[in-house]
Amino acid sequence: MRRWIPVLVLATVSLTAAPVASADTAGTRHTSSTNTEAASAPAGRATAGETGARGTAAKKVNCAKVKCIALTFDDGPGAYTGKLLDTLRKAKVKVSFFLVGTRVERYPALARRIAREGHEVGNHSYDHPYLTSLLDDHIYDELSRTQDVIREATGKRPGIMRPPYGDTDERVAAAAAELGLSQILWNGSSRDWELRDVKAITKKVVGLARRDRVILMHDVWPETVKAMPGILKTLKKKGYHVVPATALLRGKSLPAGEIFPLGGWR
Ligand SMILES: [Zn+2]
Repeated sequence: MRRWIPVLVLATVSLTAAPVASADTAGTRHTSSTNTEAASAPAGRATAGETGARGTAAKKVNCAKVKCIALTFDDGPGAYTGKLLDTLRKAKVKVSFFLVGTRVERYPALARRIAREGHEVGNHSYDHPYLTSLLDDHIYDELSRTQDVIREATGKRPGIMRPPYGDTDERVAAAAAELGLSQILWNGSSRDWELRDVKAITKKVVGLARRDRVILMHDVWPETVKAMPGILKTLKKKGYHVVPATALLRGKSLPAGEIFPLGGWR
């Protein structure tokens, strides 16, 4: 994916340097496109800011003053998401969910519940491809279609996205910027999809805990969801406030297309 960097760096800088509010004017590449979804994009861009996802959590927990850690759950909604939401509600904790479009179509009520219960909702593509392997219009459609599906289920379009596998480049950044989406990666991976064991996942996540870290997890695995009560209890005991990813920005908005956190995602 790095092969694109020298070629596209200038275009990306100009896109990502634009604040979210002016992202509407950044997208010009579709002037030659006949894609109908792209043609309807301005509506999506115009409403991208309506989510209020950015910064809302920061109002509740001030991560400049207290020790925060962000827990993020990808690939849902799924069969275990409801149980996770019960756990989070009981612990009075808000997290981030990066939803896959096809899964939202299958479980719209769970997507609605995630949003209604105050969690942060992000776009995790329509069917979870390696985005950098796709043509520009296809990347855009993966994100745009998911914006619409999430909007239909929850009433709001997300302001953040996470590329599947953390697979991103300047073209992905440009598509995200056109849709008013900033990119949320991670800097601590639970590797729950490999571990598939409650104790091992708990140990891994607790071991990864550092102030302001963004931890990658998946609510599609039952072991992850089962591990959550213990993980939350231990993190609380260690003085952590569990927050959605953008709460770590301390109220600052992340320009569309830009990546947070920087510095790798292992
Ligand atoms: Zn994923």
